[in-house]
Amino acid sequence: MERAGTDRVLRREWRALLHAVERFVLPNVCVACERPIERRRPDALVCTPCLARLRTVDGGCERCAQPLPPVGPCRFCEAWPAALSWVRSAVWLDEEARQMIHHLKYDGLSTLGTEIARVVVRSVPRVPGAVLVPIPLGPRRLHRRGFNQAEVVAGALARRWMLPLQPSLLRRQRETRTQTALDPARRRQNVRDAFAARSRGGRRGGGEGGERAAATVILVDDVLTTGATLVAAAEALRQAGWPRIGAVTFARALPYAARAVTDPAAVPARGWR
Ligand SMILES: [Zn+2]
Ligand SMILES: [Zn+2]
Repeated sequence: MERAGTDRVLRREWRALLHAVERFVLPNVCVACERPIERRRPDALVCTPCLARLRTVDGGCERCAQPLPPVGPCRFCEAWPAALSWVRSAVWLDEEARQMIHHLKYDGLSTLGTEIARVVVRSVPRVPGAVLVPIPLGPRRLHRRGFNQAEVVAGALARRWMLPLQPSLLRRQRETRTQTALDPARRRQNVRDAFAARSRGGRRGGGEGGERAAATVILVDDVLTTGATLVAAAEALRQAGWPRIGAVTFARALPYAARAVTDPAAVPARGWR
């Protein structure tokens, strides 16, 4: 426990240092469009026009907020198991959001987490009494990248929402292949049993931010594509006795992109990537 506490403090200090280095090294240009950022926002990493171009996800499905088809149930979340109660995403994965995530993931711009959280809280309501759990990376990928981008976002969200962050509730028990080239069925297979959750009734300590009283766990990730990862994580939490599991992501793959991976026939043979 003490060790974990020290690690957290070190991580916080490391983040502050990183922030200072970013401010010093980086020219003040927008990570999304590379144009200069207005002088009145010296801490910003994304310019106001790019922030304004982000398109909010506000679809019709009560469970997943995906726009509903003209007839019938929501095809996006229809096959998800009951363990995942609801999912919200802040914005569609247009170019600006894609660039923000790219820089968050590969350049380690921790302050981007704060900007992303600011965007998320504008459209996703706070759930009182919930705990936030980032989708964990496997140890190998975590070691290579040095940080988990989902945890950066979850941490920033936890600060804004003033809810506890509980990264230790969930861990990856095996490495998974990158999902990018996989269709939904293979994605589900790829992440099945990838996660293990700490049990809700666990007797160890219990002093970590009140998670034992929490009825709702909110999974946090950067992007939602098909939901396979969130589903696998939710199932692990449900098995560990957590009664209600929702999820929040910053961005969501555009519907046509989701359709493209679902049904190869829906993709024109040539003409676009
Ligand atoms: Zn911009
Ligand atoms: Zn739905």
